Amino acid sequence: MTSPAVVIVGSYVQDQAWFVERFPRPGETIRAHRYNTGPGGKGFNQAVACARQDVPTAFIGALRRDTFAEYAQRFAEAEGMPCRWQIRDDQPTSTSSITVNAKAENQISMMFGANEHLDVEFVRAQEDVIAGAKTLLIQLENNLDALAAALEVAGRHGLTRIMNPAPVHADLPLEMLRGATIITPNETEFSLLLEKFAGADVDPATLAQREDAELHALARGLGVATVVITLGSRGCFVSHGEDLRGDAAAHYRLPPESVKAIDTTGAGDAFSGTLTAGLVRFAGQPFRRAVVHANRAAAMSTEIIGTAPAMAKYDAVIARFGQP
Ligand code: ADP
Repeated sequence: MTSPAVVIVGSYVQDQAWFVERFPRPGETIRAHRYNTGPGGKGFNQAVACARQDVPTAFIGALRRDTFAEYAQRFAEAEGMPCRWQIRDDQPTSTSSITVNAKAENQISMMFGANEHLDVEFVRAQEDVIAGAKTLLIQLENNLDALAAALEVAGRHGLTRIMNPAPVHADLPLEMLRGATIITPNETEFSLLLEKFAGADVDPATLAQREDAELHALARGLGVATVVITLGSRGCFVSHGEDLRGDAAAHYRLPPESVKAIDTTGAGDAFSGTLTAGLVRFAGQPFRRAVVHANRAAAMSTEIIGTAPAMAKYDAVIARFGQP
């Protein structure tokens, strides 16, 4: 493997969706009128978003040797994304069963499977690829000990460490959160982190309407160097600590880009993956450039149905919005 600039340690999930008129009742079998399967998992989605910015990206995850694993490996190969898979024989590749009714409501059952059994030793054995990279990106869909090991190895080699704290894990220790140099929670995740680590009771529904100075003060309460809160259709907010990463201000907000959003699933993944790539592409330039680019790519991802396949390519983002 040549030295990738970004390493992503995360989850792979084979999403399977059945589209039905109404949800079946207990014991009932009903006919689906459409079926779709595709790659998912926050880690893999973010890796695809990152690789599509033409930034060499490597993915580390866990699979079983099954049909879904073959699908994952083929998809990654087509994206030109080298992977280091821990192949387990005692845990299935993670799958999710999504039933969508005519009202576009969904019911999801997820088997976390191999994602929650990524061995610490396996992650540590990837030190060569982590050591050669500039940035590590993780999420919280794997077992925490493996993710903590990734942060530790990356920290030792001086990488920028980005954590998308999703979903917020009940056992997440504060020192692990602070082991990241940048975190990218959405409104719900930010509120949960505030509740868990700062004892603050903040309604996620009101977050985006709060004054910038107030959001900044709340973010600073977490003790993480840089906090980027994604605000869905209301854009995003950046809060830096002492290191402004080349920005003119310690905090600022970016409005959403105007797009025709039809499916916002995976928008957060598009944002974190593209931000990570942007920090490499726009290295040495203000942090804001990478955030502007991520805000645009994430907005574009909402115009296409699906998660990983909906990630915008670098050239497409530049063609649509210009240089950030
Ligand atoms: P998550 O998928 O984790 O809940 P968000 O919903 O906060 O993430 O969306 C992530 C980012 O995607 C936002 O910060 C924004 O950049 C972009 N985005 C999401 N929805 C829209 C939208 N309707 N219009 C424009 N941009 C959007």
